[in-house]
Amino acid sequence: MAGNLDFSLFTFHFSLKSSTFALMFTTTLLDWFAINGRDLPWRHTRDPYAIWLSEIILQQTRIQQGMDYWLRFMQRWPQVENLAEATEDEVLRMWQGLGYYSRARNLHTAARQIIACGGFPTTIEGIKQLKGVGDYTAAAIGSIAFGLPAAVVDGNVYRVLARHYGIDTPINTTQGKKVFSKLAQSLLPTDQPAAFNQAMMDFGAIQCTPTSPKCVVCPLQETCEALRTGRIEELPVKEKKLTIQTRRLSYIYIRCKGKTAIHRRRAGDIWQGLWEPYNGDLGSGRCTLVCKDVKHVLTHRILLADFYLLETDTPPALPDDYIWVKESDLDQYALPRLIEILLERLPH
Ligand code: SF4
Repeated sequence: MAGNLDFSLFTFHFSLKSSTFALMFTTTLLDWFAINGRDLPWRHTRDPYAIWLSEIILQQTRIQQGMDYWLRFMQRWPQVENLAEATEDEVLRMWQGLGYYSRARNLHTAARQIIACGGFPTTIEGIKQLKGVGDYTAAAIGSIAFGLPAAVVDGNVYRVLARHYGIDTPINTTQGKKVFSKLAQSLLPTDQPAAFNQAMMDFGAIQCTPTSPKCVVCPLQETCEALRTGRIEELPVKEKKLTIQTRRLSYIYIRCKGKTAIHRRRAGDIWQGLWEPYNGDLGSGRCTLVCKDVKHVLTHRILLADFYLLETDTPPALPDDYIWVKESDLDQYALPRLIEILLERLPH
């Protein structure tokens, strides 16, 4: 399947509408969940406060550790009113050891928000208004506590769907997010959103794990596209984000009897084949600073350049690839835009 939005959308819409494929997936998943689903304390309640608390704790914490904290929170502040009345210090102290303390602060703020609006919001939009609650958490709380038909989409869901449906649209792109949330939403049985969402979470965490998924004993093995095509390790696809690096450059414009020294940049770096002034060290004591930290943005990096002037009657010894050219002829050489900007700042 191509990593193309329209094609991917078309493919899954086609498969969903025209066959029992989707129903099979959902039924198989729910059957698996009935037997293998994890027994977690917050799964024995539909109290939105208890569910919300578990979701916030589990945002960056493993289940085992999170469970202890959840139990302690519930014991100390059994209802949202109690949490709202606590001081921030008390909440932070209770949170100690879990890390990412903004979660604790948000939790406390949101508890007060809930009290201020007279109770726990009962719509996805309303839940999303709570501090620290994003799409995933809102869908989890909404479906589990209120039976709202909102599909959760997180790393587990991306992995299960990408593999089962053989979708190679990168999951960390806008396009990918659209494709996977549409697919998850289409698969969600509106009468069992809580079970379906929890089944997806557990299936990704226990069965279709990031490494060594248990395909041999997987109930979806017959319909799994990644298994059929041997692409389990490739899916889901994540697009490598370009990291913007900052690079410092330092140039010395050598002015010697109406001439200056330039050299041509080599392959394998920025500005291949373009010319630039001397970019080595001639002893800063002899040079005058023309300008500092001149910023220039390229696609994948930010350049910060310092520019010095050395006026001398004796040409310094330079590496072999430098040539001396008349200053008035500089415009005949292809110069990077940053160098042109630096030259404009030179005193005449
Ligand atoms: Fe995941 Fe393997 Fe099952 Fe496919 S067969 S859904 S890759 S566990």
